[in-house]
Amino acid sequence: MAQRWIYAFAQGKAEGSREMRSLLGGKGAGLAEMTNLGLPVPPGFTISTEACNWFFQHGERWPEDLAEELDRAMAALEEAAGKRFGDPENPLLVSVRSGAAVSMPGMMDTVLNLGLNDTTASALARRTGNPRFAWDSYRRFVTMFGDVVLGIHYTRFARVEEEFRRDHGQELEAEQLQQLTERLREVIAEYGQAFPQEPREQLRFAIDAVFRSYNSHRARYYRKTHGIPDDAGTAVNVQAMVFGNMGPTSGTGVAFTRNPKTGEPGLFGEWLPNAQGEDVVAGIRTPCPINGSSHGEGPTLHDTHPDIYAELEEVRTRLESHFKEMQDIEFTIEERKLYLLQTRTGKRTAQAAVRIVVDLVDEGLIDRAEALARIEPRSLEFVLRPVISPDAPKQVIAKGLDASPGAACGRVVFHSSDVQEFYDRDEPTILVRLETSPEDIQGMTLAAGVLTARGGQTSHAAVVARGMGKPCVVGTSDIQVDYARELFYAGDVVIRKGDWITIDGGSGEVMEGKVEMLSPAGDSGAMSTLLQWADDVAKLAVRANADTGADAERARALGAVGIGLCRTEHMFFQPHALRAMRRMILADDARSQQRALSEILPLQRDMFREIFTAMEGLPVTIRLLDPPLHEFLPTREADVSEVADDLGVRADALWGRLEQLREANPMLGHRGVRVGITSPDVYATQVRAIFEAACELTAQGKVVMPEVMIPLVALESELVRVRQLVIDTAEEVIARFGKGPEYKVGTMIELPRAALLADAIAAHADFLSFGTNDLTQLCYGFSRDDMGRFFPAYQREGLLADSPLSVFDVEGVGQLVRIGTEKGREAKPRLKIGVCGEHGGDPHGITFFHQIGMDYVSCSPYRVPVARLAAAHAALGRGA
Ligand code: ADP
Ligand code: MG
Ligand code: MG
Repeated sequence: MAQRWIYAFAQGKAEGSREMRSLLGGKGAGLAEMTNLGLPVPPGFTISTEACNWFFQHGERWPEDLAEELDRAMAALEEAAGKRFGDPENPLLVSVRSGAAVSMPGMMDTVLNLGLNDTTASALARRTGNPRFAWDSYRRFVTMFGDVVLGIHYTRFARVEEEFRRDHGQELEAEQLQQLTERLREVIAEYGQAFPQEPREQLRFAIDAVFRSYNSHRARYYRKTHGIPDDAGTAVNVQAMVFGNMGPTSGTGVAFTRNPKTGEPGLFGEWLPNAQGEDVVAGIRTPCPINGSSHGEGPTLHDTHPDIYAELEEVRTRLESHFKEMQDIEFTIEERKLYLLQTRTGKRTAQAAVRIVVDLVDEGLIDRAEALARIEPRSLEFVLRPVISPDAPKQVIAKGLDASPGAACGRVVFHSSDVQEFYDRDEPTILVRLETSPEDIQGMTLAAGVLTARGGQTSHAAVVARGMGKPCVVGTSDIQVDYARELFYAGDVVIRKGDWITIDGGSGEVMEGKVEMLSPAGDSGAMSTLLQWADDVAKLAVRANADTGADAERARALGAVGIGLCRTEHMFFQPHALRAMRRMILADDARSQQRALSEILPLQRDMFREIFTAMEGLPVTIRLLDPPLHEFLPTREADVSEVADDLGVRADALWGRLEQLREANPMLGHRGVRVGITSPDVYATQVRAIFEAACELTAQGKVVMPEVMIPLVALESELVRVRQLVIDTAEEVIARFGKGPEYKVGTMIELPRAALLADAIAAHADFLSFGTNDLTQLCYGFSRDDMGRFFPAYQREGLLADSPLSVFDVEGVGQLVRIGTEKGREAKPRLKIGVCGEHGGDPHGITFFHQIGMDYVSCSPYRVPVARLAAAHAALGRGA
């Protein structure tokens, strides 16, 4: 059988359907589907994507039988429309519309009113008794044809039209419109092109133009960057015109079947009376809202045309119960009659997406598994943060990397120390830095958002801001920061200290002034419902990484069932705690060291008490001190003398100690359990603080579940030694209180050696927690800080697509984790095993951790919802 190129849709029957999307394109499939549903769709037909592919495979020629098939399709269309193409009495006009399976900017736009020439335009004027409408349509057609088919830039026509309207007024009469059309045709002639009068020639030209636009530079580039194969091809839709520009009872509009910002059920959209095609989106006239819940001012369609509005309501119900999904539709009203011209799945905010799937389940349209599958786990991070209102006017002055999602708006400050002053006045700030360092933590904590000129996705600013759940844009190379004058340049714009800016950590955009934001729905109820469903199917439990009581509370509110990693060193960022720690490090003798430690003890105990209280009844894994000690000492020369002064020691003594402790590579060296072995008092102090806090609360009848975790273990002997230290110290405290909590002592698996020998290690551990951040860095042999120096080049050259620090490396590091898990379980079949680190919130990693049978993951509080949903996806076999 000969290949078939054309599929018709007319009079309630279409030859295509939505299953044929790759053949008919999204638009063609939607038109076919709506036709089959009996909705009012103007008749037409779709030339398949295969025809487009044939065209390119054969030197831009049509398949032999296509012309003939086109003639037959046109004849059938004439029949269905009751008009004839090119007819001098009752002419049929068509639109020619491109439409690939995946919509693609850069492809040809639509040509409307095709089939008009001098004769048919006069006929249309006579027949409708509306010459103004006829010449308005002709004018539009000449411009569109000249622009999209003949390739003469739109602005050439716009300029002529503007001039003409300046001379003759905005409201043109029929004759003037005719004159204007003449002028527009002269533009085409000036380009040495002929405007074809013959409708069939117009049609052929337009079809060719759609095909060719598929291979335009922009479309090809889009495909390349979006992983769309080049041989997908575009379809061409030819459809009888309906006219929204016939007067006040006509018009055109777009509508969503649910509010795309909030997800609230009900039509949401705009329309323009007496208008055609994309006038609504072109922004020449301001469109009117279709009902009271839509945006905008002016008379609503609901009020002015209640019957049409009611019909649209019905369409909404029909489409949603058919597609089981929120739709975005285009419609036209021709003299009070409603026509549908397009339907597709509507784009929506993350917040709306969650509300919509939960409502669809309630309405019985989809089941829970489908609802879970439709939400991309990562998108949940946005649900909790403010976002820029999709239609807010904004002035983007620079663009960086989207380091931590959410939008923030505040006054610009350049020094962390200045953040406090604004904070005290209740004024939000955006901290703008070249890059951040540990000294900026305090400022970052209080700022509403962080913007840096340098650094990548794993820079200090990015990692810390993500942990804090703070909007952050990094690597904004198009700004120049001048600390001395406290200003930054973005192109021609100068932003000074105190000026307002808005950043969008989800897109990387930096905007001048205050931009309208949508605040997070908070708990609209929809997200907790969805996540409840997720927990019902998930096998992995989700805990959080939290270092303070406030973080722990937040994590619990987001559904964390424990703390998987509490980093004790973060407690030392408080100035007085830091000072005590520095004294301890610099102490020359055992007595002054003990004195410093006894200052640290109550501070830590208070912090642990807060965390245990927030997590009452849930396990809290506390990691003993992990970083090398030099991280607590200053690094900058100026700071060294200041700190020496503050501590009452000599600067050269401090320098000397710094020299001793400095590590070239922060990943390696004298840290983790090694510090615990060489300075057992440090660990003993921490354990005492943990158990004093736990015992106090136990005495008050509260259930606390401490899990002490020993970092960076490589040797069985290290663990044996330190485990004994922990138990002895804990038992001593418990004995003192008379009663204490149940507790566990476990270890992190973050060195390749530990993973390979996990059976030996597990023999002395009540649990294992994979520290995949360090394990990744040590497996690859680079540190997070090295990344910025080579990773951009690797990415550019296509050597490595994602940073293994953010997307778990299943292939490599995964083997160590798998071996570690298997060996751990060999030693103790019911050993509790989890992951802490960035990958605990990475859907790709979570899928793998589920597959190898881990018990839990632990991630930053803001990622908890992401992880809960990703764990459900993994359990449903739909993991990333
Ligand atoms: P896009 O993919 O850019 O949305 P479309 O092919 O949907 O392009 O068409 C652009 C505009 O033209 C839309 O507003 C659509 O409703 C209108 N349009 C397309 N075909 C017709 C038609 N047959 N009659 C009236 N308006 C049409
Ligand atoms: Mg368009
Ligand atoms: Mg459209």
